Amino acid sequence: MVEGLIDLHVHTTASDGTLTPTELVRYAKSKNLVAVAITDHDTIEGIEEAIEIAHKEDLEIVPGVEISVDYHKKEMHILGYFIDIQDKVINKTLSELCNYREQRNPKIVTKLKELGMDVSMDEVIAKAGGSVVGRPHFAAVMVEKGYVSSIGEAFEKFLAAGKPAYVKKEKLSPEQGIGLIRNAGGIPVLAHPKYLLGESHLLFEEMIKSLERQGLQGIEAYYSTHSREETQFFVKIAQEKGLIITGGTDFHGDNKPEFEIGIGHGDLRIPYSVLEELKALLKRQRK
Ligand code: AMP
Ligand code: ZN
Ligand code: FE
Ligand code: FE
Repeated sequence: MVEGLIDLHVHTTASDGTLTPTELVRYAKSKNLVAVAITDHDTIEGIEEAIEIAHKEDLEIVPGVEISVDYHKKEMHILGYFIDIQDKVINKTLSELCNYREQRNPKIVTKLKELGMDVSMDEVIAKAGGSVVGRPHFAAVMVEKGYVSSIGEAFEKFLAAGKPAYVKKEKLSPEQGIGLIRNAGGIPVLAHPKYLLGESHLLFEEMIKSLERQGLQGIEAYYSTHSREETQFFVKIAQEKGLIITGGTDFHGDNKPEFEIGIGHGDLRIPYSVLEELKALLKRQRK
């Protein structure tokens, strides 16, 4: 049995994290983690670099992705673990999702201008560095230019759903997102379920049942912002439904400074056994 702690949800500069894959690997290593899943938004471009460096640094990398899907007008994120990064269909679909972003992003610039903020697409692209430009990059430029004092404030006042600079982007359905991951040989897991919990636990259970019928295989029960009670609830649901349990922090570097790699707000501990369960499931279904 492998000892040590892991983090199955981290972002790099390939999407909206602030560490490059190489920096991320070295950083994870410095924090004594033994395995990390790279789960960038709608892209797998950071994975090859991470695997190459991790090999030298003796860190295990799980290839992953985090796909945004549209759940009854709400945003839902599906993590995909152990996808084949050479798979043609997933590569093609992810590049289409990037196109949707590229159509949305200039519209955010226009809205910010209307609100009196001078933020250009060039500045946002420069901030992003990688291939995927997301709202945190807009937020970072807004902070830099003094329009808001933090990334959180940029979202709360302008960029979050329903706020004046929000622009909806086209997304896959949960079923399409789950299917895409399964077809690329991966394991689909519901990310940060807390954000979909809402008022009714019963409705949440119904949602999980329906996602399971669509091929969902796990729930991210361990997450930076989950309370002890929430974690217990998600663990219980997963056990009842025969889903696996995963965990990660959603580390983004300075774009989300409140989430530290491996430990989240400070007290998260994800044992290697979580990854062993994931691998056992993978083995069973590849037989
Ligand atoms: P995008 O994919 O460009 O729509 O942006 C999604 C990114 O914005 C993800 O990293 C989210 O975690 C982040 N995000 C969404 N809502 C908020 C919020 N209210 N505060 C901070 N970050 C957020
Ligand atoms: Zn992100
Ligand atoms: Fe997410
Ligand atoms: Fe994430």
